[in-house]
Amino acid sequence: MIPYKHEPFTDFSIDKNRNDYLEGLKTVEAYLGQDYPLIIGGERVTTEDKIVSFNPSNKEETIGRVSKSNKDLAEKAMQSADEAFKTWKKVKPEVRADVLFKAAAIIRRRKHEFSALLTKEAGKPWNEADADTAEAIDFLEYYGRQMLRLKDGMHVESRPGEDNRYSYIPLGVGVVISPWNFAFAIMAGTTAAAMVAGNTVLLKPASTTPIVAYKFIEVLEEAGMPKGVVNYIPGPGAEVGDYLVDHPNTRFISFTGSKEVGLRIAERSSKVNEGQIWMKRLIAEMGGKNTMVIDKDGDLELAAQSIVKSAFGFSGQKCSAGSRAVIVEDAYDQVLERVIELTNELTIGDPVDQNNYMGPVIDGNSYKKIMDYIEIGKGEGRLVAGGDGDDSKGFFVNPTVFADLDPKARIMQEEIFGPVVGLMKAKDFKEAIDIANNTEYGLTGAVITNNREHLEYAREEFHVGNLYFNRGCTGAIVGYQSFGGFNMSGTDSKAGGPDYIPLHMQAKITSEMF
Ligand code: NAD
Repeated sequence: MIPYKHEPFTDFSIDKNRNDYLEGLKTVEAYLGQDYPLIIGGERVTTEDKIVSFNPSNKEETIGRVSKSNKDLAEKAMQSADEAFKTWKKVKPEVRADVLFKAAAIIRRRKHEFSALLTKEAGKPWNEADADTAEAIDFLEYYGRQMLRLKDGMHVESRPGEDNRYSYIPLGVGVVISPWNFAFAIMAGTTAAAMVAGNTVLLKPASTTPIVAYKFIEVLEEAGMPKGVVNYIPGPGAEVGDYLVDHPNTRFISFTGSKEVGLRIAERSSKVNEGQIWMKRLIAEMGGKNTMVIDKDGDLELAAQSIVKSAFGFSGQKCSAGSRAVIVEDAYDQVLERVIELTNELTIGDPVDQNNYMGPVIDGNSYKKIMDYIEIGKGEGRLVAGGDGDDSKGFFVNPTVFADLDPKARIMQEEIFGPVVGLMKAKDFKEAIDIANNTEYGLTGAVITNNREHLEYAREEFHVGNLYFNRGCTGAIVGYQSFGGFNMSGTDSKAGGPDYIPLHMQAKITSEMF
């Protein structure tokens, strides 16, 4: 087996790559507007009621209509996952891993089609879509290899006349609930980790991006996944989500999404319901309010570039997005001026056009929420770029910068999840780190400085799960920068990390006397 290496990003300045992407787009355009069923125990189930997935750049364009699960169908899916668990848990880890490796190979061959689908369904510009697809491939390749490492368990000591073995066994049926912002990578990664560990899965993808999830299940089937191992049941979070979270047969929940929903799941999943014989395990990766800290001894051009890229890449809709920058006083004016210049150079529009740096935000609710925060920001700080949007055709918000904010301002504390960044001054580096730590979150952060002492100070004191030096705070790579946060950002279950798979398993000791 070749060692794991992350999937390279596509260089779209090369003609062949551009043409391959445009071919992918044609493939996707040919299947827009179709109907998709649920997949329960390998069977296609069609319902009258549909979730409509539309293009956030163009509300008139339907990506597809997906059958909608309800409590009865969720129950049916649970029964099928329970049944499939009896055999899947006995399938050798090598065989389970092979399903992931083959799925990765299939996706790699159809890479640009998947990326083009993300451009259409999630509004991702080419490079962002390409990174999402690459990350999905990485999760499959990485988790497959991690499972192979764990298949013989861990080493424990044995005394003379005694044989002790430490092995991992699967948990049972897992409910995987995924967000729309890494509609492919997070959905595929959380599903793949659960199944390769020998569990069966009920996958409830985000309602705004269900088509890419359907296409992924088709890939798993083509790669040899037996029926019922992953069941595809999109549906309303409140109905299907609550039902499955409460279900006594649910053994674990792997959730990625907002703090509000994560906390609701934490509370509900801790309650023991009738017939339940275990404590449910919860993996929850939630929101962030991530800070770029800029020191006076840093490369200030790098600082401004990193602030803009971290704030506005994929319209600020990454959980890792840098939505605030705290700048040491002496560097403040220079960095602010350059951030404004760079922001005003950004191009916004339909991401199908390769020249657009930023596409739309995901939907009308999100647009409204972001515009409301912009109004709040106008009362809290000085608007220096953007501040407006256009939702006539799609949901476009211009990249927005507020300056001179107070560290306790709402737009410096609450996750906006859009292209809005707040800047403020700190009197020195230590104060900047204190401010960076002043939210309830702890997901990502970055420090720009050439001062070694300050880097070491930040290494110890900046309390985030993913801390970056002299670069932006987005763009974690599977197997390199395992991802997950502290405090209200979740359970710090590092996705793409060496100890992620065991979260989906339980360790068993057998001790035999000879
Ligand atoms: P969301 O919480 O609105 O939805 C996430 C998923 O939960 C969706 O599938 C949704 O349908 C489902 N859901 C809604 N109500 C539910 C309920 N009562 N029970 C069970 N499931 C329910 O989040 P979103 O808008 O899809 O994603 C954006 C959020 O996700 C942001 O807060 C972002 O920071 C966070 N996020 C975190 C990470 C991370 O790794 N920490 C990664 C990506 C996104």
